[in-house]
Amino acid sequence: MNPQSLLSASVRKVLGSLTHVVTTQTVLSLTFDDGPDPENTPQVLTLLEKYQARGTFFMVGRAAATHPDLVRRIAAGGHAIGIHSWDHRAFPGLSSRERRWQIRECERALQPYVSPLFRPPYGEQTVMSRLEAFVMGYEVVGWNLNSGDWYESQPSVMSKYLLEMVAPGGIVLFHDTLYDKGAPAHGVDPEHTSWPDRQAMLGALEMVLDRLCGTYQFVTVPELLQAGRPRRSFWFKPSLATA
Ligand SMILES: [Zn+2]
Repeated sequence: MNPQSLLSASVRKVLGSLTHVVTTQTVLSLTFDDGPDPENTPQVLTLLEKYQARGTFFMVGRAAATHPDLVRRIAAGGHAIGIHSWDHRAFPGLSSRERRWQIRECERALQPYVSPLFRPPYGEQTVMSRLEAFVMGYEVVGWNLNSGDWYESQPSVMSKYLLEMVAPGGIVLFHDTLYDKGAPAHGVDPEHTSWPDRQAMLGALEMVLDRLCGTYQFVTVPELLQAGRPRRSFWFKPSLATA
């Protein structure tokens, strides 16, 4: 590697957000944000178990502290757990001290099961908040396949898009619940209201698992990082969700 590309790789490791890995293995990471939720998360776990798939759950600390039994169950199932803040505030609007508190409090609620993975609420971050996550030892995890499950009501629309776009090494964004239930989804076209009912997402997830099982291996994000070369993007626009 020449000095310039070595510098670029180092800067991306510090300031970039993981979107996927480049790999020859047919692996895929399914990620689930905003839980745990006593009604919906067990349904996601049942589907993952049915297809022998492992997922990665980016949890809201406040929800995890309310449902420690679910956190334990997810960890016991071989799934990975990452941080999604304490109470789902958009990080760009918080002070540096508040952001670090959000990560630490969530970390505390998820111990001893948490992996050093962080997904910012709404996918929003600044250069400074990304740098803080790095200093705290966290890999920021984005995605390269967005199910759109906070506004799409048709499982077939979601699954068709995902199945057309899927490729080895990808990271898929789902929500096992929506922490801001019923509120207009932040950063999304106002004509789309958020979709608190998770039945459409569960339908799409089952279609994707059913079609791809046997072809793809569904692995956690830490396992994905072992399976190929990480690709990290500079994501400092207001919302990753619209990237
Ligand atoms: Zn979220």
